[in-house]
Amino acid sequence: MQQHLRPILDIQELDMKMLRLMRVKKERLKELSQIETLRKELHQQLADKEQEIAELGKTIQSFEQKIQDVTTKIKKLETQQNSVKKVDEFNALTQEMTQAEREKIALEQKVSDLVDKKNSEDEIFEKIKESLKSSEISSDNLAKEIESSIKLINDEGSQLKSERDALAKKADPETLQIYERLLRNKKDRVIVPIENRTCSGCHIVLTAQHENLVRKGENLVFCEHCSRIHFWQESEAVEGTAVATKRRRRRMAST
Ligand SMILES: [Zn+2]
Repeated sequence: MQQHLRPILDIQELDMKMLRLMRVKKERLKELSQIETLRKELHQQLADKEQEIAELGKTIQSFEQKIQDVTTKIKKLETQQNSVKKVDEFNALTQEMTQAEREKIALEQKVSDLVDKKNSEDEIFEKIKESLKSSEISSDNLAKEIESSIKLINDEGSQLKSERDALAKKADPETLQIYERLLRNKKDRVIVPIENRTCSGCHIVLTAQHENLVRKGENLVFCEHCSRIHFWQESEAVEGTAVATKRRRRRMAST
């Protein structure tokens, strides 16, 4: 049974690399969508401001039209006044003209206030536009950087996949299937060594009997606590695998 685990341990190492790669890719894709959201928000802000300014412009125009109307009215009253003979009619027209003049002054004040407001809105609009431009440049660069890193991830991923496919062909199909089911569930190493009579997956202490079963290596032995498959570290069956080599290297480094 340990022999069946050997190729799968190598597959497991590739799968761990793949999982890490996919996590990085997911993060990078998230960053990319955040950039897109921010960009959309800035564009919306700009469009809203543009709309606001256009409406201010229309209001100003309508007030200017009113000023013209009042001016025309005043001129008409003046002509009318020139042709009247009676004093009371003359006075009534004077009063009407004074009122129209007052109205005109009020309208002119209003237009002047609106124009001031529009000017400052125009300034804000230009500022948003400028900051949008500079942020677009930097977010473009970041997006490009992310896209190229995603491409590298994809390349590395397909490289890993073909390596894995080759290994999978040599592995025992039944054991591989069990391993894959556990991996889907845990998204972590699922074939783990026993270290100091402890499951190195969940770190819970195992019984001597359990350890003996694993040591014998006749059947697949699962951790009672986390369902991972156990293997015996010093067993000859795993010598030469990635895990065993790594362990040996570690041991050599510490001595
Ligand atoms: Zn465990």
